[in-house]
Amino acid sequence: MINNKFNLGFFPTPLQELRKLSKKYPDYTIFIKRDDNTGLASGGNKTRKLEYLIKQALDEGCDTIITAGAQQSNHCRQTAAACSIAGLKCHLLLGGEKPEVYDGNLLLSSILGANIHFTGKNRKGEDRVILKNKLEKEGNKCFVIPYGGSNFTGALGFVNAVKELKEQLMEQKLKIDYIFFASSSGGMQAGLTLGKEIYELNSELIPISIDKDETNGLSLEEVVFNIIKEGIKKLNINKNIQLSDIQLNRDYDKDGYGVVTNNEISAIHELAKNEGILLDPVYTGRAFYGMLDFLEEKRIPANSNVLFWHTGGFPAIFKYSTELKNNTFAR
Ligand SMILES: *Cc1c(COP(=O)(O)O)cnc(C)c1O
Repeated sequence: MINNKFNLGFFPTPLQELRKLSKKYPDYTIFIKRDDNTGLASGGNKTRKLEYLIKQALDEGCDTIITAGAQQSNHCRQTAAACSIAGLKCHLLLGGEKPEVYDGNLLLSSILGANIHFTGKNRKGEDRVILKNKLEKEGNKCFVIPYGGSNFTGALGFVNAVKELKEQLMEQKLKIDYIFFASSSGGMQAGLTLGKEIYELNSELIPISIDKDETNGLSLEEVVFNIIKEGIKKLNINKNIQLSDIQLNRDYDKDGYGVVTNNEISAIHELAKNEGILLDPVYTGRAFYGMLDFLEEKRIPANSNVLFWHTGGFPAIFKYSTELKNNTFAR
């Protein structure tokens, strides 16, 4: 199952120490896993899921992919690129109204050849069945990828990512105590949780919630739980889990999805100015802020090795240029 994928990216992604930030927070040693460098049309964590989802679509003889997201969806941009590589037609359902000017991920999705449908307040694929029926009447064979690529098949990308990380840690003779990352549609969190069991990774996951809204009537905890339950069965993992076992930090999602506050802006500037690495304003900016807050408040024990899993998203920076150009957070 884990080997049944269609190659789309450059793996393993680098694992590096953030030396200057580790000096700034001397109680901790901070590392970063560079999934912003997966290589698929500017990279990101959806590449890992798409390797499995595109393979399934091809195995089922489909010729058209349908997926959904916000206008600045990194998932949709990477899906468009994956479809170009695999020779599939790509239809994207994107929230909001058609803007006059395309920028950031929307521009890239369009350049990558996706057919774009604007769906008003629906940004999580609510219109997928209507579109599928229409395209199938026209003779296409459609494969629907859920919001964020988050189902069991997509999560396999992150089961495999744990194997990749474990090999890097062994090579570098390193133990990571805590892994921070942005969790939003749940596939990454579910995959990492399953991978931790299979490959016996003894690091604690600290998923930072990005989006307080439900997805098709389910909370993020419920989505993660359902994927893990399916994974436990299909991967023969000997473990019992309850919904209440799903860990999710909700301290930083209150302002809502895609709303950029001083938290995200300060985190973006801090990593850029200290390490020359770019975060994004929606996901990694928020999660990195959360991690730095944990370190400043000493919410995890001193002398821990901490890993930030960078999940990409950099093209959205251009959509938020007004918020980000005020460089008042220079350090
Ligand atoms: C999609 C995405 C995430 C969240 O991953 P999920 O599997 O959807 O929880 C984090 N960061 C970026 C940049 C993303 O595009």
